[in-house]
Amino acid sequence: MLNVTVWNENVHERENPKCAEIYPEGIHGALANGIRRDGWSVRTATLDQPEHGLSEEVLNGTDVLVWWGHRAHDHVADYIVDRVQRRVLEGMGLVVLHSGHFSKIFKRLTGTSCDLKWREAGEKERIWVVNPGHPIAAGLGQYIEIPHEEMYGEHFDIPAPDELIFVSWFEGGEVFRSGCTFTRGQGKIFYFRPGHETYPTYHHPDVLKIIGNGVQWAGQPGGARPVYGNHQPLEQLRGGQG
Ligand code: ZN
Repeated sequence: MLNVTVWNENVHERENPKCAEIYPEGIHGALANGIRRDGWSVRTATLDQPEHGLSEEVLNGTDVLVWWGHRAHDHVADYIVDRVQRRVLEGMGLVVLHSGHFSKIFKRLTGTSCDLKWREAGEKERIWVVNPGHPIAAGLGQYIEIPHEEMYGEHFDIPAPDELIFVSWFEGGEVFRSGCTFTRGQGKIFYFRPGHETYPTYHHPDVLKIIGNGVQWAGQPGGARPVYGNHQPLEQLRGGQG
């Protein structure tokens, strides 16, 4: 059983008719329906809900949080960011999508500006698998293609990722590290690039497969439980007693 919460600011869907037409149930609805797998419990949460839908109870019951935000990053309350960060350090998985690169939580966890180049010209994106043995790439060929997307280009100001799984090429010539993993505390983080709100990217089967794989990967329990603070010796100390 994997408990997944898909969070979305849900702003463009209400302000931009094109986005609303592509995602009548919101980006969160499309993602929740598209990535759902047997044995998963998937719920959604949005910015306008009390505590942005991310109460202590919800987060404590979440194994993996998926994050989509863009216009309203600044409207996410800092105490919620603190709460999400704490849960990631405790071992909750986090999948950050597209413009979530500028979210408070992603910048908090990476500690860098997370800035990048961008262009909205509906160009072709070819996403190359550069780590074919990684479980997030399971079931893919050597690349996937998205016919129309926003361009994100290097340099992407992130810490060197633990693992690089995908690299995007864009019709205009730029490249981008599109699939990156990080570990913070006990938590696993997967950043995946595609998903501009005016393209039907989250209806693309390969994109949904990758996000689902990312959720599965980030939801694997972490390693050993760490112990901090003052610590008693495990053996009798010989020195320092006289
Ligand atoms: Zn975008």
